[in-house]
Amino acid sequence: MLCLTRKVGERILLFTTDGVITIALGSAHPKKAKLAIDAPKQVVVVRADLLDEKAVQEQADLALARAVDVDLATLAKLLDRSGLDMSPCRLCGKPVICIPDGIPMCVTCAKQEAEGQ
Ligand SMILES: [Zn+2]
Repeated sequence: MLCLTRKVGERILLFTTDGVITIALGSAHPKKAKLAIDAPKQVVVVRADLLDEKAVQEQADLALARAVDVDLATLAKLLDRSGLDMSPCRLCGKPVICIPDGIPMCVTCAKQEAEGQ
């Protein structure tokens, strides 16, 4: 865990796939500190003491799913610029990178098909 010392008004920036999260120290007292958090709307910000371990894991899984979506969108842009092709898997529809004249199939479907033969 990264531990930082901040003076009142100083900010910390977190660069995420969802955007920049800004955390500022609003005020500080011997046993309490007030934090001001500015985050993109898709970022869930919640006090940890309000969630149990399962709820924390669920939020982490949702955030990871969003990150994968962003990565696929970025990958699609890069592929578009490079001239390579991204097509839906012929069995499940997930986007996959295709070699020229290849059959678009994701790794999961390819393994299942290989095991079925
Ligand atoms: Zn598939």
